[in-house]
Order: sequence, then structure tokens, then C-alpha cells
Amino acid sequence: MTQQHLGKFLIERQLIRQDQLDTALREQRRSRRFLGEILLAFGFVKREDFYPLLAEFMGFPFIDLSVCTDYFCHPRGWIEIKKTSDEELHIVVADPHDLFLQHALSLTYPEQTPILYLADPRGMEQLSHSRSPALSSQDYAPDLLRQLISQALEAGASDVHFSPALHHCQVLLRLDGMLVPLQTLHREQWQALCAHIKVLGQVDLAEARRPQDGSFRFYHGSDPIDCRLSTMPTKDGESIVIRLLDPRSIQTGLDELGLLPHQVAKLKNIARTSEGLFIITGPTGSGKTTSLYSMLQEIIPAGRNIMTVEQPIEYRLDGIRQTEIQEDVTDFAKALRSILRHDPDVIYVSEIRDAETAMTAVRAAMTGHLVLTTLHVSDIRLIPRRLEDLGVPAGYLSGVLKGAMAQRLIRRSCAACSGKGCPTCFETGYRGRQVVAEIFTQGDDLETQYLTDTNERMIRYARDLVRQHQTNRQEVNRVFGPVEPRAANAA
Ligand SMILES: [Zn+2]
Repeated sequence: MTQQHLGKFLIERQLIRQDQLDTALREQRRSRRFLGEILLAFGFVKREDFYPLLAEFMGFPFIDLSVCTDYFCHPRGWIEIKKTSDEELHIVVADPHDLFLQHALSLTYPEQTPILYLADPRGMEQLSHSRSPALSSQDYAPDLLRQLISQALEAGASDVHFSPALHHCQVLLRLDGMLVPLQTLHREQWQALCAHIKVLGQVDLAEARRPQDGSFRFYHGSDPIDCRLSTMPTKDGESIVIRLLDPRSIQTGLDELGLLPHQVAKLKNIARTSEGLFIITGPTGSGKTTSLYSMLQEIIPAGRNIMTVEQPIEYRLDGIRQTEIQEDVTDFAKALRSILRHDPDVIYVSEIRDAETAMTAVRAAMTGHLVLTTLHVSDIRLIPRRLEDLGVPAGYLSGVLKGAMAQRLIRRSCAACSGKGCPTCFETGYRGRQVVAEIFTQGDDLETQYLTDTNERMIRYARDLVRQHQTNRQEVNRVFGPVEPRAANAA
């Protein structure tokens, strides 16, 4: 259906004149709005005349919802009309050619082929606002999703997992880095919910055999939460993981990470430096990004131009120019070189993983920029070797490296139950995490730093936390691997 065809049809039916159509089409080319909307907005047609003719043009029966008494507004946006005279399924939709809608209908009513109707969308909206809560909210996919995500956010979860089995689907939360069961859904609930999540995430609803990535925005009260979803085909159907990018979870000051006061002071000092390189090391999920964002927040008020190269941008921070790497367009090294022409003072590169980026970052750090970044090594001592592998001559580093930090995240015992397990902590005994770190700064003795087993220092600090009942031995073993206490080294 082209807009011109509709216009011609409306002229034939004497609803509008040619000059009105020409004006509307001119506006249509400019604004890309639907022709009908423009005709209505310009006052060329009346709603009660236009929609019956649009239905006729599209080949669907028109229904006047103002005389409709027995109906059910489906949360997906269509309206089911009850007619006592027959057994047919009568559905009112806004756009019968909408493929998402067609698929959603076939999932909702697998046994029946509905008869589709068109109505004035305004009438549909009015009816849906007065919809009766006849079904439990667990049966409305949108309400169910809202409930689950709200629960996840209130618990402080980072991800919601939907793991399908033969007859049901398990919903799990990632809390403090570990998966915790939240709820079980019936397979039918999951099918409707899965379709709803895919429509929201703007991924191909019909595609269930290939992994897909999408995103949507969720409003928790009035707080916008960006949600990234990924789908993965499994033997029992599609599995979905939704990552919740809750900005509250990184609005952490350096003082609240759980670092020791002298460590916080070191990081604040580095944040004030105008030139040099600072590197955080640690495995995936050890909180490196949160620590670096906390440092950036320390820098923001200082009137410096802060720019980032990230993949992906995990959180949007006010006062920072963030750039996301799109692999088909650019790469870390190219983006970093462009940023250097943009007069930055502080540069955050989310990860150094290739030779060109490594060298560009080091050069930037030698020429009047503070460069903050991460390296995927387990230990501070491995930084020089890793950078050397990436082509940075060993001699460069000693002058330019202002500091480095190795870190891990340790789960804290739940304060409500002292680690015994309670509803607040989903029976895990843990609530919240804190950073355990080892920091080296340029003033420290390099030789000793590189000779000392840094992990051992972190472990020693973690053991202090066990003694203070902030965490327990199992958690320390989980993070660092089983380690024998060495009392002799406790100096
Ligand atoms: Zn508890």
C-alpha cells in the first residue's frame, strides 16, 4: 500500500481534493508521517469519515468501538470483541499488516484464525484505559515482565536469566555475581513473555534458531533503566538474558567501594594527576569498570575534558564525552587517535587488547593526558610483560605508569541474618559486594612491588574481612581459590 494509492482512493471517494492531497504529500515527504495522520492534523478529513474508508481501502471490516459493550483489551494492544452469535474470534487491531502483531496473535491464539477489524486508534486507546483486570497480572506478559524486572532491580541484580526447560521456564537473578532462582513460569507464560521481550527488544520475533541481541528501556518509577537482551537457542527453546544497566549501581564514590582509606587516597591522587597511565587488572566481573567510573566521577567537577572509548558503553555519565566502538565502523586504536585530536585531558579506554591501542595509549599518557584503562591480567606484576607482548618497550613504562590496581569483588555477609540466609538475601547469606584491592603508585618502590605476590596481599586483606565477620572463609576461597593460611607472612 503506498501513500499515493491511499490518497487517490480518498479522492475517488470524494473525501479530499487533489490540492489537499498534494499539500499532505509534500508534508509527508518532509516529516515521514503517515498520510492519514497528516490529513487529520491539517483538518482535511474527520476521524469518523476517515477510518471507515481506511478500513475499506485496506480490505478489513471497520468497527465503531463506541457502541461496543462486550470486549477484552489485550495488553499487547489488540481488542478481543465478544459476539454471542458465533464461535469466531473477533480481534480489533491498529495495523493488520504489522508482522509482530500477526505473530503475537498466532502465539496467543494457536488454535484459531481471528477475524481482524480496524477501528479508530483513539477509540482503542480509550477502551484500553478502562480495561477490566479480569486476568491475573501473571497472565499479562507486559505486567509479568514489569514485576520480574522491578523485583530484580529492587534486589540489586545485574541480570535476569530466563532458562527454559521442557515444561517450565526458570527465572534466575544474578545477584552479587551469582545466579539465584527467583521464580518458575509455566511454559505458556514463558512463550507469551518471550514474544513480548523480543518485540520490546526489537529483535526478529520469528527467528528462534539464531542468537540475537536487542535492547529496550525500562522505567522503574521514573528512572530509565537501559536493558540489553540476548537470546540463545537451547534444546528446550529460546533462553533469554536481560542485562539491567542500573545507573544507581555505578553511582558509587571512591569512598564506598570498600577500599582502605589509604587506598582511596592513592586513587584520588591519581585522579588529580594531569599526565600518565593508570591500569586496573582483574578477571572479568571483578568490578574494574565500576572502580574506573568512580575515579572519573572524582574528576568530572575539575573542569577537564574527559573522553572515553568503550565497548560497549555500560553507563552514560553526565559531563563525559563517551564513544562506543562499533566494530564495522572503527576500532579502539582508530577511535583513540580521533579522540586525541579532540583536545582531551583525561581519556578512559575500557580495555587495551591490541598492540596499536597499547602504543597509542602509552604515547597519549606521555604527552599530557591522564589515561585510565584496564588489562585482562590477574596481577599487577603481569602488567609490564603483557604490555611488552603488545609491543610497548619496557623502558617506556616506568616513567609513564602512575599507578596500577589489582582487584577482586568479595560478597559481604547479609547484615539482616548474619550470613545464615533470609528472604532479604534470597537465602544466600550474602548481600552486596566490596572491592578487595592492591594498589601500586609511582612513589612506591617498584622493585619490591614487582617482587611481592600481590594476590597474597589481597588475600590477607580478605582474611581480615573474615575476622571482622564481613564475609566468610568459603567466599574468600571461592574468589581466590583454596589457600593455606600462612601466619608467618602476616607482617
Ligand atoms: Zn540474609
